[in-house]
Amino acid sequence: MTAQLTSSTGVPRAQQGRLLVVEDEPAILDTVSRFLLFLGYDVRTAATASDALATARSFLPELILLDVMLPDADGFEVMRRLRQDGLPLAVVFLTARDSRKDLIRGLTEGGDDYVTKPFGLDELAARVTAVLRRTRQRERSDPMLRVADLELDTLTYIVRRAGVPLDLAPTEFRLLRYLMLHHGRVVPRAQLLEHVWSYDFNGDDTVVATYISYLRRKMDPLGPPLIHTQRGVGYSLREPRC
Ligand code: CA
Repeated sequence: MTAQLTSSTGVPRAQQGRLLVVEDEPAILDTVSRFLLFLGYDVRTAATASDALATARSFLPELILLDVMLPDADGFEVMRRLRQDGLPLAVVFLTARDSRKDLIRGLTEGGDDYVTKPFGLDELAARVTAVLRRTRQRERSDPMLRVADLELDTLTYIVRRAGVPLDLAPTEFRLLRYLMLHHGRVVPRAQLLEHVWSYDFNGDDTVVATYISYLRRKMDPLGPPLIHTQRGVGYSLREPRC
């Protein structure tokens, strides 16, 4: 698909973001890619895993919308191969309804977010915007992480909520930092164990719940809850809903 150099908003497409949409259902591919073009993104499309790999390697997208079930390989394999190439791209999986296993696997293996089919275009656009904002923030390597009234300085290890310093143990600090880096999405317990405790998947994940409760005890007296439990999956840190 060819894209105009500038979008209707006047923002150059390349600046808005380079997106690759990978989906083997022609109607979804067409609808999604047209919508993202309309929003001003620079968009390429692919309908197979091999086409996705080739296009990603030449186009270097910032973000891939990646269908899990493709005719020649699954989306996880596509992500794994691109990450092996060292491409610093964000991945939002497009998963089939009720495929909870897919969702957990996608997030555990390093996907940034997911949407479940059938999805609304507004929801998709919101996810894309949020993931791009997050990955760009990570790239700027600002030592301060901020979510709502929570501030974490990755250099000085000072954490404040509503301006009040929190006294965190090292594991609490690492857990909170990881949740802040992935704020707005559900982080599976296995992923927290692997990255915060460096245990493998067979580790005892009750330790995660214990440390989440420590964090809540220190954070919650200072404002509305920011850490939310996704039953059976994991935890997310997000701004309170008004
Ligand atoms: Ca498919």
